[in-house]
Amino acid sequence: MPQILHGAPVQARIFEQLKPRIQRLSRPPGLAVVLAGHDPASEIYVRSKIKVCGELGIFGEKRILPETTTTEELVAVLDDLNARADIDAILVQMPLPNHVDSRRVLEAVATDKDVDGFHPTNVGYLAAGRPAPRSCTPAGIIEMLKYYQIPIAGKHAVVLGRSDIVGKPMALLLLHENATVTICHSRTVNLPEVCRTGEILVAAIGRAGFVTAEFIAPGAVVIDVGINRVTDRGEAVRLGRGDEFDAKGKTVVGDVHPLDVERTAGAYTPVPGGVGPLTIAMLMGNTVELAERHLGVVA
Ligand code: NDP
Repeated sequence: MPQILHGAPVQARIFEQLKPRIQRLSRPPGLAVVLAGHDPASEIYVRSKIKVCGELGIFGEKRILPETTTTEELVAVLDDLNARADIDAILVQMPLPNHVDSRRVLEAVATDKDVDGFHPTNVGYLAAGRPAPRSCTPAGIIEMLKYYQIPIAGKHAVVLGRSDIVGKPMALLLLHENATVTICHSRTVNLPEVCRTGEILVAAIGRAGFVTAEFIAPGAVVIDVGINRVTDRGEAVRLGRGDEFDAKGKTVVGDVHPLDVERTAGAYTPVPGGVGPLTIAMLMGNTVELAERHLGVVA
């Protein structure tokens, strides 16, 4: 039976380690979450982030803006948050409405408050291996591998997906941990064969159950970043989630086929309950780290 890598205990340990660091600061760390529009999934994410802030003693501020907000208006909100002394960290919830210039908005976040590490300056620091906020999901995955004492150095890691948010920073973080890294994407030739060379396989493509048994080396460590809502019954049945679909009318699956990973991998993250809890844990961790820097505390 493969080992199941649950996110909850890793999240709990990260929160336990953060609490004393928060308590010794002269004021609560401050995180502002900016949301434009009414995407239901984004609203849920923002609510849960603010709730966790409250539980940890972090000051969480929600800025909900209408769907019609312009790029200039968003930049003005960010300028205001950049200037505030009680805000250490700013997160712009994605996706932004289509008419908004996302790149301009992300670049308007002050580099020392860029909690997701998306600003090009921080991306550069990441590439150079210098201290800076790290993209939360990939950073959480490294924490998870360490928590479960899964060796990274010298291993061949295959990252499927090359987005700026997950794939690329994931590949860089694995490289900094001394893995040998291959990055795959939609133009990769012989994708299943290449993925099968991975002792660690990270799937981040946004396609339900795309990674089937032929992608997975026997015994590999499989990290499933995908969060995909399946609304078609036939698809749910293919993915072994027919019962859940019949009960709820939907199911959420990752990018990895849930049945195939169970019979092939040596260890894997479930969806839900694997990587998800780590993204929020690292968001809190990055907020505390930025607050420590602003308050001159050496961690
Ligand atoms: P993007 O859509 O930005 O990027 C997807 C990447 O996958 C691209 O590089 C794309 O390749 C590649 N890709 C897409 N289809 C294929 C294919 N058929 N074969 C090979 N490669 C393919 O997605 P994100 O990185 O933002 O997110 C990926 C998944 O992770 C999503 O399901 C998202 O919901 C989830 N996610 C989960 C988080 C969590 O907390 N658990 C946090 C963030 C994301 P190309 O570049 O060539 O187009």
